[in-house]
Amino acid sequence: MRLILLGPPGAGKGTQAKLLVDKYNIPQLSTGDMLRGAVAAQTEVGKKAKAVMDAGKLVSDEIVNAIVSERLDGKDCANGFILDGFPRTLQQADSLAVMLKEKGIELDRVVELEVDDEALVERVSGRFTCGSCGEGYHDKFKQPEQKDICDRCGKSDFKRRPDDNAETMRTRLLTYYKETSPLLGYYYAKGELTAVNGMGDIDEIATEIQNVLNELTS
Ligand code: ADP
Ligand code: AMP
Repeated sequence: MRLILLGPPGAGKGTQAKLLVDKYNIPQLSTGDMLRGAVAAQTEVGKKAKAVMDAGKLVSDEIVNAIVSERLDGKDCANGFILDGFPRTLQQADSLAVMLKEKGIELDRVVELEVDDEALVERVSGRFTCGSCGEGYHDKFKQPEQKDICDRCGKSDFKRRPDDNAETMRTRLLTYYKETSPLLGYYYAKGELTAVNGMGDIDEIATEIQNVLNELTS
C-alpha cells in the first residue's frame, strides 16, 4: 500500500497513519517527525530547519525532497509506505512524482482528511505525544487509559510541540491554504484523490479510510 495522507495541521494524519502502520506493517513517513529528529540531533539540516518550524513556515523543498528520497530507499518501504506531511507544495508533489517514477513505484491513493478550522485549532492545542514510542494523545479526545502512562509502551515521557500554540497555528493554517491546498486540485486532476470526512471519531475515520483502501484491492 502506497499512500499519501493529505490535510491541514491537526487533521489527524499522524493518528490515522499509526493505525495503518499496525494494519499493513508499512512505515509512516512523517517529514515533520524526521525534521524534529534532525533538530533534536542538531544536524546541519536540523539547524537550518529549527527557526522555520518554530515560526510555522515551511522548510525548503530542496531539504525535504532529499530527506524523503533517501527514506523511500529504505528496505522497510519495499512493501509500501504512508506519507504524512509530504508533499506540502506543488514543487514537492512534482519532485515526488519524479522520484517515484525513477524508483519504479506507483502511488495507490491520496487520502484527504477534511476538518473544520475550529476543530483543527482545538486538536492541535490539546495534542501531546509519548516521547518514547511516538503514540499520539489529546487532552480531551484521546487520553491515556492510566493517567501519565503511555498505553502503548508504558513509559511516562509525554511531550508537547513548541509549534502547537495558537499564534504559530495561525501561520501554519495560512501556509496550508496557500502552499498545500493546491495539491488537492493537483491530485484530483490525476484521478488519485479521495476525500474523507475527518470530523468524526478516530475509529469512524479509520473505518472510512479502510473502506477507501478496500475498494482499491477489490
Ligand atoms: P496531524 O498529524 O494531521 O497534524 P494528529 O494525528 O497529530 O494530526 O492529530 C492532532 C491531535 O488531534 C492529536 O492530539 C490527536 O490525538 C487528535 N485527533 C486526531 N484525530 C482526531 C479525531 N478524529 N477527533 C478528535 N481528535 C483527534
Ligand atoms: P508537521 O509535523 O507535519 O505538522 O510538520 C511540522 C513542521 O515541519 C511544519 O510546520 C514545517 O515547518 C516542517 N515540515 C514538515 N513537513 C514539511 C514539508 N513537507 N515541507 C516543508 N516543511 C515541512
